[in-house]
Amino acid sequence: MNCLYSVNDIEQQYQGRSVLRVAQMCIETGEVLAFVGPSGAGKSTLLRLLALLETPTRGALTLSLDGVTYPSHSVPIDVQRQIAMVFQRPALLSRTVRANVAAGLRFRGERDTHARVDEALARVALTHLADAYPRTLSGGEMQRVAIARALVLQPRILLLDEPTANLDPYNVGIIESLIADQRQRFNTTVVLVTHNIFQAKRLADRVALFYEGELVEVAPKARFFEASENPRTRAFTSGQLVY
Ligand code: ADP
Repeated sequence: MNCLYSVNDIEQQYQGRSVLRVAQMCIETGEVLAFVGPSGAGKSTLLRLLALLETPTRGALTLSLDGVTYPSHSVPIDVQRQIAMVFQRPALLSRTVRANVAAGLRFRGERDTHARVDEALARVALTHLADAYPRTLSGGEMQRVAIARALVLQPRILLLDEPTANLDPYNVGIIESLIADQRQRFNTTVVLVTHNIFQAKRLADRVALFYEGELVEVAPKARFFEASENPRTRAFTSGQLVY
């Protein structure tokens, strides 16, 4: 199989406590994969590992791009730059929206960022707020700035940690359309953590359920929601597993 990420028997511990164990997982190029499961199940931990922000305590995580496979602890900077992560509570600079979106490009030493920033702002429907300051924005607008800041970098891998948590339907709609559009237009691989089972149904090709630090099952959406033989998946999709 052609895996963008391969997970091989990894474990993540914090202060000696095991919070995540995954025996095998292949994340395919161009797929939208949703991580679901109760709070504390290890979803964000795995997302941080995929973002290369941490390396697993044990086991192997590899990233394969353009025919080259890298262990997660030694991915070259230009390959790391193909990955963008949006955190659940994005930290924005106390500068204008436009400056926030341009920051990543500037950091990479790129000039003439104007047109790309304008395009990213248009995609998140924030053109009218380009000169506003984050403190004046709603939660949904701030989240859209964070997404524009990621998209402007044209990542091949987009990692989203609960991108629509606590947002109203208008903002959820904009963000979900963007995710679908990003995959369709650019074949970006998207991994998103979501508490919203309906969002997983709307957006994902495959769904992975985590429970108490274990990967319970990863399956194509239709099988996950309608034909899983795993008792815990069935409990989760029928709403019996509290989360
Ligand atoms: P989820 O995203 O499924 O809600 P997380 O991956 O955030 O779960 O957390 C899994 C477990 O790991 C939780 O018990 C959490 O408290 C713990 N944890 C996460 N990050 C850290 C950290 N940096 N240090 C210590 N414990 C952590």
